[in-house]
Amino acid sequence: MMAENTAKTHSTAATTPLGWQGGKTRIIAIANQKGGVGKTTTAINLATALAAIKKKVLLIDLDPQGNASTGLGVSREARTRNTYHVVMEQITLAEAIQPTDIPGLDIVPSGMDLSGAEIELVDVEGREFSLRRALAPVADAGGENGLYDYVLIDSPPALGLLTINALAAAQAVLVPLQCEFFALEGISHLMKSIERIRNGFNPDLELQGIVLTMFDKRNNLSDQVASDVREFFGDKVYNTVIPRNVRISEAPSYGRPVLVYDLACAGSQAYLHLAGEVIRRERKEQAK
Ligand code: ATP
Ligand code: MG
Repeated sequence: MMAENTAKTHSTAATTPLGWQGGKTRIIAIANQKGGVGKTTTAINLATALAAIKKKVLLIDLDPQGNASTGLGVSREARTRNTYHVVMEQITLAEAIQPTDIPGLDIVPSGMDLSGAEIELVDVEGREFSLRRALAPVADAGGENGLYDYVLIDSPPALGLLTINALAAAQAVLVPLQCEFFALEGISHLMKSIERIRNGFNPDLELQGIVLTMFDKRNNLSDQVASDVREFFGDKVYNTVIPRNVRISEAPSYGRPVLVYDLACAGSQAYLHLAGEVIRRERKEQAK
């Protein structure tokens, strides 16, 4: 029975359009099942930083909380076409894309209904690949402004069907990790889940990298956690560390990325560095 199930999963994966595989669009899921570790903040600000260096970026808000949509100033009224309708295959992804105030950055907002998708998707054939199917034409042909260089997917703090959809659609996963006591335990759980996704749904899924967030230089624990994580994951951990910075936490209430709210602050500068590192890492990988 188990073998049959696995075989079925693989055949679904094989018949799922992989249009973007040869293309230039890079699809990165931002994931960690732990809540409040900086996923959304990283999604918003990495997307903004990439757009600031002239990359074309699409941010997909796959979290029913909709924090990425709020943080980028998308009003509730402007979310009538959202990721719920996309994953339930009621509209195409292209139909749900809207521009943000940031040149070069588009978004597919989330909607309240999305929390129901975790349950409703269970009855959908190939439920793990719903986002992947929706993304293929966009990764192939692009949105109104042409092909995207990067698609970033913000995922909810759980390992349910929405996060599985994000990880099954992505080429790589970027993991924000908060510098706190249980960080390593949480991440080993996540690594096991990523391995399961590779085996079941997406053999090509890479670990793009781990970014340490909310680093507090006055706290010895932050230092200890950072060095433990680096010892364990080596160069998979970005050199850039995102500091705990009050400007980062203020920005979403203005519906703006911190890079727009206060470009000079330490948080903004860190996200710009992170974007540079992400791009350099991609180039290195491509050159291999
Ligand atoms: P969830 O799991 O609920 O989706 P998340 O992992 O997306 O959470 P965020 O929403 O990005 O986490 O961050 C959690 C809270 O911490 C937010 O209020 C955010 O503004 C704040 N925050 C994130 N990063 C920083 C930082 N570097 N400095 C200060 N505050 C931060
Ligand atoms: Mg979030």
